[in-house]
Amino acid sequence: MIDLHTHSVVSDGTDTPAELVANAAAAGLAVVALTDHDTFDGLPEARAAGERVGIEVVPGMELSCSRQHQSVHLLAYGADPEDLALAEELAMVRGGRTGRLRPVLAKLAELGVPVSEEEVLVFVGSSPSVGRPHIADAMVAAGHVLDRTEAFDRFLADGGPAHVARYAIDIGRGVDLVHGAGGVAVIAHPWGRGREHLLPPSILTELVAEHGLDGIEVDHQDHDPDTRATLRRLADRLGVLATGSSDYHGTGKVDHDLGVNTTDPETYARLRSMISQRAPATGRTGG
Ligand code: AMP
Ligand code: FE
Ligand code: FE
Ligand code: ZN
Repeated sequence: MIDLHTHSVVSDGTDTPAELVANAAAAGLAVVALTDHDTFDGLPEARAAGERVGIEVVPGMELSCSRQHQSVHLLAYGADPEDLALAEELAMVRGGRTGRLRPVLAKLAELGVPVSEEEVLVFVGSSPSVGRPHIADAMVAAGHVLDRTEAFDRFLADGGPAHVARYAIDIGRGVDLVHGAGGVAVIAHPWGRGREHLLPPSILTELVAEHGLDGIEVDHQDHDPDTRATLRRLADRLGVLATGSSDYHGTGKVDHDLGVNTTDPETYARLRSMISQRAPATGRTGG
């Protein structure tokens, strides 16, 4: 079993990278990709754990992008963490994440569900990538909501009363940056949470034609069976990878257990050969 989308405590998951890899092995996975939001920092620990427990760890990252000011996620596989242009972009995104914290907390206070920056930072821990789930965890701890889902549904979701937009580049530019860093770019859960209007087939087709988007995450818990079937046909027609994955966040996301969706071995073989064909020399400047 092959699962190509997971999060550790290095972003908004609840397992350390080593725990995540051990849990992946215990769940019967042969291959797992660690794809923390906007950071590569968990990869060395995950790789070392993979060698210990004997499963393959694919180096990944989930890049925050946007289209028409709405959030779009891009999975990057095999991208070089040392690539200068990508590293600079990630620093900008993480800066935007940190900078958004106070305005969100101000809105929550106005809405009568106050949490302090200190309370949130307990859940951020050593993550360089501050996320709304960390704010949600602080709201749970303060007794304002029962779980992350309630925090998102009532306050934090895109367009919700405590939502504050943050810096993100256009999805096409994101694909270019991932390619510049020698990576393979797969759009994450494109039609989840009402995004089918944001990323219609015409736009996905354009991303493939103009930017060389490499794949579409088809099997994901945010996609119902009809959505999966339509996306799979589109991916096949465009000749790009159709992946499946859990988007595991530890205890942070229910119904996203490791291996709940998987990528078939033929597709993974294509992905691997694309990664190795593009593998850049490390330390390149990206210029
Ligand atoms: P952010 O990274 O700050 O933009 O927050 C987005 C993250 O919040 C996503 O990566 C998900 O992990 C998480 N998320 C979004 N919606 C929900 C939800 N309804 N319940 C739990 N987690 C969610
Ligand atoms: Fe997340
Ligand atoms: Fe995502
Ligand atoms: Zn994710």
